[in-house]
Amino acid sequence: MKEILILSGKGGTGKTTVTAAFACLAQSKVLADCDVDAADLHLLLSPKIIEEHPFQSGVTANVDPSACTGCGTCADLCRFDAVTVDEHASIDPFSCEGCGVCEYFCPEKAISLKDNLCGRWYISRTKYGQMVHAALDIGEENSGKLVSLVKRQAKNLAEQSTTEWIIVDGPPGIGCPVIASLSGTDMVLIVTEPTLSGIHDLKRVAGLAKHFKTPACACINRWDLNRQMAEEVERTCEAHDITMLGRIPFDEDVVDSLVRGIPLMEVSSGPAAVEIKQIWERLQKQF
Ligand code: SF4
Ligand code: SF4
Repeated sequence: MKEILILSGKGGTGKTTVTAAFACLAQSKVLADCDVDAADLHLLLSPKIIEEHPFQSGVTANVDPSACTGCGTCADLCRFDAVTVDEHASIDPFSCEGCGVCEYFCPEKAISLKDNLCGRWYISRTKYGQMVHAALDIGEENSGKLVSLVKRQAKNLAEQSTTEWIIVDGPPGIGCPVIASLSGTDMVLIVTEPTLSGIHDLKRVAGLAKHFKTPACACINRWDLNRQMAEEVERTCEAHDITMLGRIPFDEDVVDSLVRGIPLMEVSSGPAAVEIKQIWERLQKQF
């Protein structure tokens, strides 16, 4: 079993288009969407949810108003300014860090710490295989922890069904969720574009993959929109020991597939689909 993580450094480079195409092309696979802040793989794969689970992380202080005398001790002690006291204390859940100081010092034992429900994660059935995905609630943190959970569940499913591939749609950026998604990955595929910011993001993701000793390869999406810059991308890859797997041309069929919410491979045999198929073939040969 091999795990491939598809990254881009930022959104909008075609990462999910490539992931959905691989979902169609790989024979035996489990899919994981680790973009838990703004998941969109489901828009192309139309999953049918078969399991739904809460995602809890950390704790938040809660006040029992019937026990609170409004003495103000908790507000005085809270270093995060999460407490306001009027008749009773009330706690702003977005400011509360769950440190427990207020609970410890409340003379009336009116405060308790409760598990924080931050989002939900799902196991779904798609036409292309099982998929693990998640949604973090708005304003919640700990997306790295949820990414690790999604990956762990995808691995469990893959082990149960002796699946050949785990195909992971990674989070954007290079922050905590991306670092969490890199753990245990066999190969990173960086989907980049022929722009200055594309090269900048490529270098950042390549640096991260190198730091975690994960082999990386790349492909250039819409390469023909700036051929000179595409050559610069290829030189950057060479300088960073990244294997270039292919150049995906601009193709109206990609836009059409996104609008229709159907993976490219289902609706097109055009130049982008042909090249992605070749990239998948070349990617398999990297192992
Ligand atoms: S310390 Fe306890 S009793 Fe005093 S205001 Fe806070 S919650 Fe109420
Ligand atoms: S748990 Fe800590 S951060 Fe939250 S309200 Fe109490 S003292 Fe403030």
